[in-house]
Amino acid sequence: MADAKPKVLVVEDEPHLSSALKLNLELEGYDVRTAATGREAAAAFLEGVHFDVVVLDVMLPDVDGFELCRKMRDAGHRAPVLMLTARGATKDRVAGLEAGADDYLTKPFELAELLARIRSLLRRRKWLEDDEPTATDGSVARFGQAVVDFDRHEATVRGEPVHLTKLELDLLRYFVSHPHRVLSRDELLENVWKIRHASSPRMVDNFVMRLRRHFEDDPTRPRFFVSVRGAGYKFVPPAETAPSADEDETSADR
Ligand code: CA
Repeated sequence: MADAKPKVLVVEDEPHLSSALKLNLELEGYDVRTAATGREAAAAFLEGVHFDVVVLDVMLPDVDGFELCRKMRDAGHRAPVLMLTARGATKDRVAGLEAGADDYLTKPFELAELLARIRSLLRRRKWLEDDEPTATDGSVARFGQAVVDFDRHEATVRGEPVHLTKLELDLLRYFVSHPHRVLSRDELLENVWKIRHASSPRMVDNFVMRLRRHFEDDPTRPRFFVSVRGAGYKFVPPAETAPSADEDETSADR
């Protein structure tokens, strides 16, 4: 397993960029498959091929990358997605993260940066698979109406399945294994994303929003994943949840 080449799917319709990415990723030791349209990408997934990373362009001829990412996630595909956004607009990056992407890069980008981002996505995954012991007691966490089985990668709220991406699950695991502790964005980026000195602390906010949407009765008034003003976030298990705590502030400090 350890020496198998990581599989990368590149979904990009510009032929030059696509072949340049394929070539360079292959030089880095990846097994690369390309798709020029959303339809081709969907076909690759339908064949049941497991990908370790998906590089996904937003602007595709038949479907946009957001839509494709959302469909992938809905279908239960959890491979980390690095989204390539042509526009630098914040709303696009947010849309990408909300659609289930794990990271994004704005075009035009440096090849070295793309390779570094991919390595980072893979490194995280490997560390988690190889050496991270279950940080929770056993692999099942329960809070409120939620039951999360980390080993089986399954979550339910009130018995209804919740589809979590790998990163959402990793972030959730980190929260659950550090209850009541104030966790800064930097700490979360370092331990969940495995990135140091990240320039994108907002990524954490987007993922916390996603967890709230999955697990909070009212995501605008979180009880479990609370913001701590000026500091970060804290996971508050239900028994100790204080609904009117002062630090229970939705859109925190920015
Ligand atoms: Ca394109």
